[in-house]
Amino acid sequence: MSVDTSPFPAVDHDHGYCRSWILQRAQQLCEQQGIRFTPQRREVLTILAASHHCLGAYTILERMAQPARRPTPAAVYRALDFLLALGVVHRMHGQNGYFACTRANHQTIVQFWICRGCGVVAESESQEIARIMPNLAAEMAFHPVWVTMEIEGECHRCRTT
Ligand SMILES: [Zn+2]
Ligand SMILES: [Zn+2]
Repeated sequence: MSVDTSPFPAVDHDHGYCRSWILQRAQQLCEQQGIRFTPQRREVLTILAASHHCLGAYTILERMAQPARRPTPAAVYRALDFLLALGVVHRMHGQNGYFACTRANHQTIVQFWICRGCGVVAESESQEIARIMPNLAAEMAFHPVWVTMEIEGECHRCRTT
């Protein structure tokens, strides 16, 4: 994969655009489904949307409002569960963290590329993997219900600096 087509965001990309796209999409999905996008849910998503980094629930909690008005960890987990179900946030099991999805409507199996250096997560949907996976499962007589692919390592930027 060439650097030009890397799913990793460029250093100088317009992140304001990513940020508003993520929040607008969540707002629209809530409206379509007739669910309330409560201030707390919005705040959790805003913190995640501030970067392409994977954040743990406690880091999110620390970045929320003043300590006096800080929600309980349970409330943060409830907001995260809501955002996961809405499909605007993904959970990274290896890192035990979350990040804001930057792609609408995943069609196939998603690969999550997680940089251990900078914490950025990039998403890709390889057609090849999407083709191979059902064959592999068939060979094993396995019926997959949920597939997730987390690849941890070092991104191009961290490798060259
Ligand atoms: Zn961005
Ligand atoms: Zn990196």
